[in-house]
Parts: sequence; structure tokens; C-alpha cells
Amino acid sequence: MAFSHLSHLECGWCGSERGADALRNLCPECGKPLLARYDLAAVRAAVRPQDVAGRAPDLWRYHELLPVTAPEAVVSLGEGMTPLLPVPRYGERIGLPGLLMKDEGLLPSGSFKARGAAVGVSRAAELGVERLAMPTNGNAGAAWALYGARAGLAATVVMPVDAPEITRRECAASGADLHLVDGLISDAGRIVGELVAASGGRVFDASTLKEPYRIEGKKTMGLEIVEQLGWTPPDAILYPTGGGVGLIGIHKALTELRELGWISGPLPRLVAVQAEGCAPVVEAFDHGERVTRAWEKASTVAFGINVPKPLGDFLILDALQETSGTAVAVTDAELLAELGEVTALEGAFVCPEGAAAFAAARRLRASGWLREDDRVVVLNTGAGLKYPETVPVDAPVLPADGRLA
Ligand SMILES: *Cc1c(COP(=O)(O)O)cnc(C)c1O
Ligand SMILES: [Zn+2]
Repeated sequence: MAFSHLSHLECGWCGSERGADALRNLCPECGKPLLARYDLAAVRAAVRPQDVAGRAPDLWRYHELLPVTAPEAVVSLGEGMTPLLPVPRYGERIGLPGLLMKDEGLLPSGSFKARGAAVGVSRAAELGVERLAMPTNGNAGAAWALYGARAGLAATVVMPVDAPEITRRECAASGADLHLVDGLISDAGRIVGELVAASGGRVFDASTLKEPYRIEGKKTMGLEIVEQLGWTPPDAILYPTGGGVGLIGIHKALTELRELGWISGPLPRLVAVQAEGCAPVVEAFDHGERVTRAWEKASTVAFGINVPKPLGDFLILDALQETSGTAVAVTDAELLAELGEVTALEGAFVCPEGAAAFAAARRLRASGWLREDDRVVVLNTGAGLKYPETVPVDAPVLPADGRLA
């Protein structure tokens, strides 16, 4: 029986098709992202939801719906099957007592970027890549550098100088070829593009959505949420959106599960959460547009969602439309306050991006868009530990023989 039922690649914009057996970047016809397609009839015949239940608790349990064709090609650090935790004390406070948090902070490298890296690096190595290059806001570069090391691949990473410092150190520790740029991720992207073009095919461009397989790793968040709820989708999923790969991936997962007949009924309403300092998706959604305009002077403490012009904007906006979802922007002050509140009430040290999604849950409950009895899942996309500077500490130092009273 086939390990993967990958069949071909299809452009998300113009629909043109390509074989999946060679290295690919963007659609050669229109320059938009290519998406992996599977022979879902074959998957349906080969596996049932109850078969998946008995497999190892990592994202490779969904291997029929992943692009890596040989089990030996899997490069893993044990990623996947993160907890779907009730957050009742916090939920009670914002009027959503049944609120759930999918905590991606427990993954290798401390962010959900590990999912995209595990699948993307495995597939790149399977197709013969020896060196990859990518621009990043930090977490993706760290994850790809670490998984690259695991796979024996060389990685060139370019990130803004003000990206979270720990992510630099992760790249350095993995032996990646690291470069800092005094600019934004879009500037890093141009630099990587020029390197790749000059390399004559020796360096593979692994930028967000410029290769088709990172999204396949990220879609496993959607597969896991549904499996963890007993193969019933929730009513709404809130996702902190930068490049939007996670949201596009969750939507893709839900669509594939519906085509498989593993779930039925309406899909969960998807919510793209952004920071007010960088909200191109919210702006486009509010104006009913299908693509974004590049956001000027993008800036937010939630670094992972500081993406001025996502390449897959139309896929994000389509997912919001198709699921009757919405897009919400919150301020840095709001998300930092929420970070403190979630952590103090629930003991889960969430990241600023995850905190933005919690702040959006509060707003959407207050506006009535979310109802009290809705089953709502918030994605905490990374560990608060990766952003120590977001939490001020005011603790006096006592002398060695000091006392508190
Ligand atoms: C990259 C990142 C995001 C945004 O992810 P996309 O799927 O690219 O929108 C959110 N949170 C964290 C912690 C990230 O590292
Ligand atoms: Zn195309």
C-alpha cells in the first residue's frame, strides 16, 4: 500500500497542473503558489479514521495525505499531536467557557513552523535538494535550519536584524549560513531570490509558499484538531496570520477531510487575526478584495505575523469567504495584555502571535460574532519562551541573608 497518495500539483490561482515528481517552485504559467493534490479515492479505500487512531502520536500518522513518498525519507524530531487544551478560567472571563487552545509551543524549535519544516525538508531531500535558502521572520528559519541539519542539508537563512534573537542562535547552532538584514522579511525575500537566481539551480528557494510542501506540514494542525475532537470540526478556528500558510493549510485539510467523507456539514468559520501595525489581510477582507495591498511601514511585537504582502493572500481570503469567516486586527497593547492574562490564568506561557488570537476571541465574543456555546479553537502558534523580552520583570534582588517580612 502506498505511503503517500500524492498525485500532482495544481496552481491555486490558474488551475494549471504539474507533475509532483520533480522540484517545483511557483506556477510557471502565472507565478502563484502550487498546491499538492492527492488521489483521495485511493486514500478512502486505503485507510479509515479509526486506523489512524492506532498510529504513533506525530504528524506522520496522516502520511497518506502528506507528500513524502517513502517512509525512509521522513525527517522527524517527533513533531505533531500537540495538546488541544481547555482554557476554562480564561474562557469564563471572556464569555467562552468551552474555549480550547491548540498549543503549538510544545513542538521542536518551540513553534508550529516545525510542522512545515519537517514535511518541507523531508520532501526537498527526497527530491534531491542539497542546499536550501529562505527569508524568515525568525521561527521558520530556525525550524528549517534545525530540520535541515537533521536531514544533512545545508541552509542559507536571511532574517531581519530585529527578529527574535533566540531564532538567530537556533540557526547558528544548526550550522546554517545565517545573514541578518537591516529591513523587513520582504527585503530578505529579495536577497534570497537573487541568490537562488544566481546559483544556477544549486540553491533551492524554500520561501513561504514558493515551494508546495511546507503548507502540507502545516495542514496537519487542521487534521489534528478534527481528530482530537472525535472527527467533528469545531465551530470556529482563530489563527494568527502572517504569510497565512497555517490558515490556508487548515482550510485545505478540512476540505480534503470533507471530500474523503471523514467529516460532514459546514466547515468551521476561519478567522485570520493580524496586528493593527500590519493588517493587509484585514484591510482586503473589509473591502471585499481578493488580494492584498502591500502594507506600508509594517511593525508589531508579534513578529511572526509581520508580513506586509503575503504571497498566498488570495488563498487566505478565499478560505475566509468560503467558511463565512472573518478577519480581525488587534493592537500590540491588547495582545500584550492578553499574553499576561492567558498566562496568569492558565499557566500556559503563550507567544505574542497566539495572544493576538486570544485578543480576537475576546473581541468577537463581545461583538456577538462568537456565541457563548460555540466550540472555538485558538491556535497558540509558539512558545512564550521564545520571546522573553515581551514580559517585563520587576523583582527586587535581596541580599543573601535577606528576608521578605
Ligand atoms: C510564522 C508565525 C505565524 C504566522 O504563520 P503563517 O502561517 O505564516 O501565517 C504565527 N505565529 C508564529 C509564532 C509564527 O512563527
Ligand atoms: Zn498558475
